[in-house]
Amino acid sequence: MEKYIMSLDQGTTSSRAILFDKRGNIAAIAQEEFPQYYPKPGWVEHDAQEIWYSQRSVAEKAIAAAGVGPWQIEAIGITNQRETSIVWDKETGEPVYHAIVWQCRRTAPVIDGLDPEFCQYIKDTTGLVPDPYFSATKIQWILNHVEGARARALEGKLLFGTVDTWLIWKLTGGKVFVTDYTNASRTMLFDIHKLCWDEKILDYFDIPASMLAQVKPSSCVYGETLAEYFGAPIKIAGAAGDQQAALFGQCCFEPGSVKNTYGTGCFLLMNTGKTPVKSHHGLVTTIGASCSDSVEYALEGSVFVAGACIQWLRDELMMIESSAISEAVAREVEDTGGVYIVPAFTGLGAPYWDSHARGMAVGMTRGTGRGHFVRAALESIAYQTYDVLKAMEKDTGSCLKSLKVDGGAAANSLLMQFQADILNVHVQKPACLETTALGAAYLAGLAVGYWTDKEEIKANWKLARSFEPSMDRDKAEKKLKGWERAVRCALV
Ligand code: ADP
Repeated sequence: MEKYIMSLDQGTTSSRAILFDKRGNIAAIAQEEFPQYYPKPGWVEHDAQEIWYSQRSVAEKAIAAAGVGPWQIEAIGITNQRETSIVWDKETGEPVYHAIVWQCRRTAPVIDGLDPEFCQYIKDTTGLVPDPYFSATKIQWILNHVEGARARALEGKLLFGTVDTWLIWKLTGGKVFVTDYTNASRTMLFDIHKLCWDEKILDYFDIPASMLAQVKPSSCVYGETLAEYFGAPIKIAGAAGDQQAALFGQCCFEPGSVKNTYGTGCFLLMNTGKTPVKSHHGLVTTIGASCSDSVEYALEGSVFVAGACIQWLRDELMMIESSAISEAVAREVEDTGGVYIVPAFTGLGAPYWDSHARGMAVGMTRGTGRGHFVRAALESIAYQTYDVLKAMEKDTGSCLKSLKVDGGAAANSLLMQFQADILNVHVQKPACLETTALGAAYLAGLAVGYWTDKEEIKANWKLARSFEPSMDRDKAEKKLKGWERAVRCALV
């Protein structure tokens, strides 16, 4: 009887469960969107219970869709939206507040108030550029603003977790309280060199160490699910933040290999092997997914708004009926007619790190129409990737020839072609675009011996399409100049 690995892919806008077979093919998939809460401008929240219910429900649906029994699932791998912070009561399992989502800017004033010396300490220790994006200030906000939370935390009654930790805790009926190195490295509380929670940073943000989970490798058996959830206990054997999971799923195992994921945001990661590379150009150093305590590092450029800009055209401006139609609408025009959109809705991430920047559209004329606008939104995704990739080249001294891509918006061929043109590199799209989920499946499967080694996994990577650069370089440079000007307008 065929066996599978089930990946639980807990994203920013939806929860997904995917069953993969040995060749990395999808045997079944289920997906549910869940509500987003925007209580104030710049604030973004999720209900942690809604995350849990939707994730459990899609797991049940995927198993049912595949028509398999729980004993045919060798292990579960979890991948998740990173940095999003949940604080809950250890006894009741009730979250004390909504999950504060990675995009949320509410703690920008705390970051503004950090003294430069401490900022440097944070950079050196955690590899991150201090920003409201990471978990530290979100946890502090909950402890400061939820009545009684700090006292309960000091009594050891509250737990903090990123979404991986929350899901593993729920799936194991509150028995297992762990996180993995990749997720820990996104909290701004973790020493990525010594591989432990950093006491000085914890003290500064007034976060009791008792709230924090045990940190483990991304590929390892953490525990098993309660039998009642899926009809039999299933091992939970892998966990990684979504971007590190995608890097693994793209088989970027060698130092120097790079992938870019086009989802809600855009995340470009380069494997740098055993050496943490310090960025001098606005990137962050992070821990990659690995199978042991001997971790590997990655250099990352995080762009907060990519596909989310297309959703904005769909939901707020009602300019398009679906994200997928954006390609056809953009093709109605030859170019943007000089329009640039800078989608700094939640500030700008790498390489600018300006949490006060806000969105901007420039270059409109009386003739600007829907097609120009939609095309400009798509192009903004490629320009932001350009900025990050150039920073990465400067930091590593390497010149990239090709880029592996994935994520929802990688389905847009106009965007992929424009990306190849602007970067002047080959853009390679694999047959399986669900690389995030696949990466988590690989991590879990390696831990339980479903796959023997990385070599076996590599054989699963298949190229679907390569986009070759074809734009005249002068034209590309001219467009990039226009983008630079537009970004300058958006920065505060
Ligand atoms: P996440 O995991 O961050 O929720 P996904 O990888 O599922 O994101 O991708 C969804 C995002 O991709 C959405 O923001 C959506 O607007 C965008 N998207 C999906 N299909 C297309 C398309 N054909 N063209 C442009 N954007 C798209």
